[in-house]
Amino acid sequence: MAKLGIFGGTFNPPHKGHLKLAEQFMDLLELDRMVIIPACIPPHKDAPQLASGTDRMALCRSLFRGPGFEFSDMELLRGGRSYTSDTVRILQDAHPSDALYLIMGSDMLVTLHAWHEPLEIVRRCRICAATRGDLHRAQLEAYVQEHFPSFQDRFIIAGIEPVVISSTRLRAQIAAGADVRDYLTDGEIAYIAEKGLYHAGNTAQ
Ligand code: ATP
Repeated sequence: MAKLGIFGGTFNPPHKGHLKLAEQFMDLLELDRMVIIPACIPPHKDAPQLASGTDRMALCRSLFRGPGFEFSDMELLRGGRSYTSDTVRILQDAHPSDALYLIMGSDMLVTLHAWHEPLEIVRRCRICAATRGDLHRAQLEAYVQEHFPSFQDRFIIAGIEPVVISSTRLRAQIAAGADVRDYLTDGEIAYIAEKGLYHAGNTAQ
């Protein structure tokens, strides 16, 4: 049975915080591969200055370069709001003998009960979350106990030290012309400059 990681996000743009999360879970759980899935329209939050799916996919390919990473445009092609329950159902049907591991930051974990069909997701995948920001392990475990009492063994909470960055902050830094080399690859920086993404005055995104 192969172990398949699933890492979805808006990735607007994808950054080294995403990369660290993905790589650390890949190592920790000894995943065989991890599929990176940019959302078409994220259902859980606003998406200001959303770059096109083509651009976000190109940026993902530039960032997630290590062995084992794969990319799927299934949510971009489905269009509309990207529900994770649909995505994991499709992946499980396509890979019935794989064990699925859904990767997320703790800020997303503590919203899971309010996602579309959360039990569908938890039944099909192990939920792998890393601490991010002020959400500590005890709080995350309490959250799981409160909202998913029958599924606690489906959750894996890892103490991965986060890279303190968000796409929101990066977009502001890019617009301000700040140095973002600590958070984006050279390839991403070149792509963003060439396409004029996230720059002040570029509202056609
Ligand atoms: P935005 O600032 O636009 O809301 P974001 O930086 O949170 O975006 P997303 O693409 O929404 O990025 O995140 C995808 C997933 O990666 C989410 O599960 C989120 O919790 C996680 N994540 C994002 N940034 C980090 C980080 N710096 N460290 C660990 N996990 C992160």
